[in-house]
Amino acid sequence: MARRATKRGDQRTPLHRDCDVLICGASFAGLAVARELAGSGADVLVIDRYEIGERATSACGIPTPWLFALGLDEALQQTFGELVIHIPFVEVRYDLPWSFSTFDYRLLCELLADQGSFEFETAKVEDRRGFTVRTDRGEIRAPLIVDALGWRRVLGTGANVQPPDALLSRGLEVHPFGSGEDLEVWIDRDYVPAGYGWSFPADHELRIGVGSFDPRFHVREPTVRLANDLDADTVRYQGNWIPHALRDATEDGVFFAGDSAGHCLPLTAEGIRTALYFGLACGRELRKVVIGKQDRHAALERYHAFSAGHARPFRWLLRVQRLIPRIPPRLLGHGLRAMERKRFIDWAFGHYLKIAPPEFVGAQRPAGARDTRIVRV
Ligand SMILES: Cc1cc2nc3c(=O)[nH]c(=O)nc-3n(C[C@H](O)[C@H](O)[C@H](O)COP(=O)(O)OP(=O)(O)OC[C@H]3O[C@@H](n4cnc5c(N)ncnc54)[C@H](O)[C@@H]3O)c2cc1C
Repeated sequence: MARRATKRGDQRTPLHRDCDVLICGASFAGLAVARELAGSGADVLVIDRYEIGERATSACGIPTPWLFALGLDEALQQTFGELVIHIPFVEVRYDLPWSFSTFDYRLLCELLADQGSFEFETAKVEDRRGFTVRTDRGEIRAPLIVDALGWRRVLGTGANVQPPDALLSRGLEVHPFGSGEDLEVWIDRDYVPAGYGWSFPADHELRIGVGSFDPRFHVREPTVRLANDLDADTVRYQGNWIPHALRDATEDGVFFAGDSAGHCLPLTAEGIRTALYFGLACGRELRKVVIGKQDRHAALERYHAFSAGHARPFRWLLRVQRLIPRIPPRLLGHGLRAMERKRFIDWAFGHYLKIAPPEFVGAQRPAGARDTRIVRV
């Protein structure tokens, strides 16, 4: 795939057009939707304000089976069979039933884009009126529109709920050069009253950060402190808001996937796997529409129901997220240690993976893959 910087200035020529499917957002959710439309014959346009893979906003950790299921293992950087949790007075090591891996964001996005068949344009999405999306380069009309733009849910109706009132967490991390062996998490009120800190090694760099489930609590100072405590440089910052509540996955005729639908898991802030999972589900419904097997209303209804069908585990994870800060640290330490038993870990993490299981990907690669057309204007 061609690499070029996001168009600026004179290069931002007008973009007025129609297409069959308009996917707004070219990260995990948007590219997963596009993948499922490969070979359908639809005129698919993907837009993002940045080039594909240009701006990562996460530590890029995912259950390894998902990378293999999607054929994205070339992007894999480091794999961990254990999760190390630090609580004041205690350290626990969970021997996971499946491993977790870090990956290279740019490469993963490029590999995933190669599995789709679409045109791509850089444009900033501003708003929507009916089936017309307004961008900084012009208006695009499509009967099928997907908002995979992240937590802002730009294409929703009415005024968007903004932080700190919205159900959002804050996440910030630094990316110093360095190496490590362990996937580590800190549940420590000295860093953050409700939330956790992390260190994810990825080959030559560490991704060290802090997430707060309370949006009023700022995370820059604790991120710096955690990095200092680990003797790491505080360089290459990246951060974002992270939703921690499911929202309607369809609204006013538009499909929402990934963070725009609150598809991030509330307890762990793991949102990559679920963005891929719900993106695939959305893409499959859209595919049936473009090949004439169902109409748009049926697709909206089915996708809405599919997403809402996951409300129970999301609710449970939110409950545990809210419970943990109320447990005295010593008691929490005893509790987490008691859970170290292999049978319990296998059961708990097995259920956790099943919320968005890698088997959902299916065996076959979509027909028409490796046909991404990057349009130069
Ligand atoms: C610091 C941090 C660390 C994290 N670490 C992990 C982790 O290790 N593992 C994990 O599973 N989850 C992690 N998450 C959560 C995860 O990053 C998100 O849940 C995930 O990125 C959601 O994917 P998405 O495709 O829905 O949205 P995003 O990845 O946010 O993608 C949205 C896309 O839309 C584009 N966009 C946004 N607005 C506009 C606009 N107006 N016009 C045009 N384009 C626009 C953006 O450029 C972007 O490409 C982390 C989050 C943070 C903040």
